[in-house]
Amino acid sequence: MPKQKKSISEPRSRFLLVKCKECEHEQVVFGSATQKVACEVCGKPLTEPTGGKAKILGEVLQELS
Ligand SMILES: [Zn+2]
Repeated sequence: MPKQKKSISEPRSRFLLVKCKECEHEQVVFGSATQKVACEVCGKPLTEPTGGKAKILGEVLQELS
């Protein structure tokens, strides 16, 4: 019997619906983005990578599974 693989702590939801604080545009971003994600409309950064997990700079409206 193979040992059951322990999952490394992963965030439950990978995608977040984030609202830009600047122009209120709603955009889906990857919750563990390792790259900066900018608002499609105004270019304001919505996420900032902080060593593995993305820091959400906008307002998280919803977590998508
Ligand atoms: Zn914006």
